[in-house]
Amino acid sequence: MNKSYERFQPPKRVLLGPGPSPVDDRVLSAMAAPVLGHLDPLFLQCMDDVQALLRYVFETENRVTVPISATGSAGMEAALVNIIEPGDEVVVCINGVFGERMRDIIERAGGTPIVVEAKWGEAIDPRKIESALKSSKPRALSLVHAETSTGVLQDLSGLGEMAHECGALLIVDAVTSLAGHPVGVDRNGIDICYSGTQKCIGAPPGLSPITFNERALDRIRSRKSKVQSWYLDITMVERYWGDDRTYHHTAPISMNYALREALRLIHEEGLEARWARHELNHRALVAGVEAMGMSMAVAPEQRLWSLNAVSVPEGVDDAKVRGRLLEENIEIGGGLGPLKGRIWRIGLMGSGSTRENVRLVLDALHRALNAEGFECPTGVEAAEAVYEN
Ligand SMILES: *Cc1c(COP(=O)(O)O)cnc(C)c1O
Repeated sequence: MNKSYERFQPPKRVLLGPGPSPVDDRVLSAMAAPVLGHLDPLFLQCMDDVQALLRYVFETENRVTVPISATGSAGMEAALVNIIEPGDEVVVCINGVFGERMRDIIERAGGTPIVVEAKWGEAIDPRKIESALKSSKPRALSLVHAETSTGVLQDLSGLGEMAHECGALLIVDAVTSLAGHPVGVDRNGIDICYSGTQKCIGAPPGLSPITFNERALDRIRSRKSKVQSWYLDITMVERYWGDDRTYHHTAPISMNYALREALRLIHEEGLEARWARHELNHRALVAGVEAMGMSMAVAPEQRLWSLNAVSVPEGVDDAKVRGRLLEENIEIGGGLGPLKGRIWRIGLMGSGSTRENVRLVLDALHRALNAEGFECPTGVEAAEAVYEN
């Protein structure tokens, strides 16, 4: 082979898309620490810290609270395959890409999805969820708290009781909400909840924190068949992370250093302060977007703070505007599925949710839109006014 390869040196982009989010330098440098053996007592201490800090972030007392060694989708798969046996019915809420993904996993695991839908860009009506639960004998109710493909927040209040009254477990995808919005696993009666490291947690992609309560573990213990996935069988993963320390797979050492440091940052900031920061920067961004004569794609009470869906103005080429932003090293996301070309997805997640980034993206959008022939005023002052009040 004659070709020589240079060291890969990516630029430092400002990641304001649907994830990954910007990674704090403290987290990046934690990853550069020496690799320990995965059963080294020092690494076991790191694992224990990660579990304790994850309980803090999930707001749970659940013993089984661990990072799955794979991305957020593996958390979704772990949540579902551990409880589904062939023939089980699962009520699944679909109003975007990630609800669709849940349905696919349910089918692959031999379950029968009972689908409750809403238009992409709208939350699911809880009355529809209730009637779906009552019309079947579901093993679980599965839904996405923060639908990253549309920017919609699903209100969790009352859903735990609703599911439990019908003998179903409540499974919640908190990939884009955990550490950016209140999730409150114990408070909301969530039986299984999972997330990903690269959204509001602020670490690189690679791990999927997940938590199971005793109700969920009881269900798993009473299974008649083995969990369909060897790798994601939580009863084995749990023995590795728990007191047994039985070898199951080799934990991704450096990623766990990164997660520990990202969680330490969250703990230092405090969950409530972090939620408030995400909310404030979201409100400032919305004020700026609206001052520019654009509108948000989601109704005010259903908007995510972490992922802002902005309607692409009539006549504007979505991809060209994103291309102009990328030339300035700013990444934002486009729409998916029915929303392709119709929305921009501006992520303000983790260490990316800052006043500076709100100003940066509004200013860059203003210039890009005017260059594309959509004349509009700047949104920066309207955003700044939100901070001044
Ligand atoms: C990003 C995301 C996932 C999938 O996570 P990956 O890390 O991409 O596998 C699942 N659910 C939601 C809501 C997400 O935003």
